[in-house]
Amino acid sequence: MDEDLLTLREKLTKLLMKSDKPLTVEEMAIFLGLNVNEYKRIYNELYHIAKTIRRKTNNRLMLYMAPPVCESCGYVFKKLEKPKKPSKCPKCKSERISSPKFFIREN
Ligand SMILES: [Zn+2]
Repeated sequence: MDEDLLTLREKLTKLLMKSDKPLTVEEMAIFLGLNVNEYKRIYNELYHIAKTIRRKTNNRLMLYMAPPVCESCGYVFKKLEKPKKPSKCPKCKSERISSPKFFIREN
């Protein structure tokens, strides 16, 4: 199959299925040849994948997110409504936040 004909959503799904470790958006962009301007688009696609992958695969696959963590105080951003990298820690106000990591696994 010609990889170029796949949509970004399909490419991300494939990438996360075959990766042996959770990936950040930065890493996904490198694998797919995308630049920094497209991080937001990738997060948006991940959000849609998270919402639809179970139904599309009859509950077989799930998209998981390892939440972002504050690198200064260890605060874990567990309650994100949408996948993203928070800009600031609510606890210590640090801006050193690790990116969330994503992976797809069988249910
Ligand atoms: Zn913090």
